Amino acid sequence: MKFKVSLCVSILAILGGLMSCRQTKNKSNMIVIAHRGASAYLPEHTLPAKALAYGMQPDFLEQDVVLSKDNVPVVIHDIHLETTTNVAHAFPDRKREDGKFYVIDFTWKELETLQVTERFNTKTQEAVFDDRFPIHTSTFKLHRLQDEIEMIQGLNKSMRKNVGIYVEIKEPQFHENEGKNLSEIVLSVLETYGYTTRKDNCILQCFDAIELKKIRQEYKSDLFLVQLLEIGYLDEAFKDKTPQQMIKEIAVYADGIGPWYKQIIDGKDKVKIPDFHKIVTLAHQQNLKVHAFTFRADDLVDFSSFEELLEVATTLHLDGVFTDHPDLAVDYFKK
Ligand code: CA
Repeated sequence: MKFKVSLCVSILAILGGLMSCRQTKNKSNMIVIAHRGASAYLPEHTLPAKALAYGMQPDFLEQDVVLSKDNVPVVIHDIHLETTTNVAHAFPDRKREDGKFYVIDFTWKELETLQVTERFNTKTQEAVFDDRFPIHTSTFKLHRLQDEIEMIQGLNKSMRKNVGIYVEIKEPQFHENEGKNLSEIVLSVLETYGYTTRKDNCILQCFDAIELKKIRQEYKSDLFLVQLLEIGYLDEAFKDKTPQQMIKEIAVYADGIGPWYKQIIDGKDKVKIPDFHKIVTLAHQQNLKVHAFTFRADDLVDFSSFEELLEVATTLHLDGVFTDHPDLAVDYFKK
């Protein structure tokens, strides 16, 4: 009798498994990456923006990483500070000749004192996105890569989930010119927190192809690596290469590519690159995943709704989307 009951339970479990497999088969294979956190709703790359994003149940939260003067890996999008902090008021005499305040010129102790704000235009002093969180309000701080990993791992424990991290090495060449090795420091923090192989819930991304190749071949990293691609900002290594040659070369060291979706589709922004849409098919032929950036509900290009824009991801057969609106993307792809 006991055997029969457990057999029944097993059959039900298998059926349930099959059904849930089928349910996840349609649109829900799409990976949702919270771009700089829930950056449409709270100032980008702040811990509150990451906590809010976490609650929206994306697959990954994104971290951009830049080094401080004393080699602390800081989560921030730009290598300079003036568009997302009050640095110009707090340290007015610390800008370089180009008028910018570089993260690398400040110690972590100094960086910790800055107020973070919703992104603004330093010339007009106005918000970059009109309808987002008001600039220079409430109180937000910078944080270190380890602070964010500890928060995500803590939430994974307390909420019994497994949200991944998606770390970008920002401008490694700039860091090298300043006498610093950003990749080595980031890899060592990742290792400390248990991220060393493709099986760990971590993806490492970079625009710099030489650096990403080095991470695989010289530093012997076994992490899932994504080569970011933006024509016009394309790595020297890919200049004068056909899309076929480029993708083949990437497949030697990376597991995926991250193209700018606007360069693949027609739109009034007129940034489409002829034949660039082919890279999706070419990438899949080389077993590379394709995670495109950045899907924003408040930047619809020619689309009449965010759903219509997200549909593009399905039509293009993308494997993942970076989005400032993880709640809407999760709603669209997963529910
Ligand atoms: Ca990024």
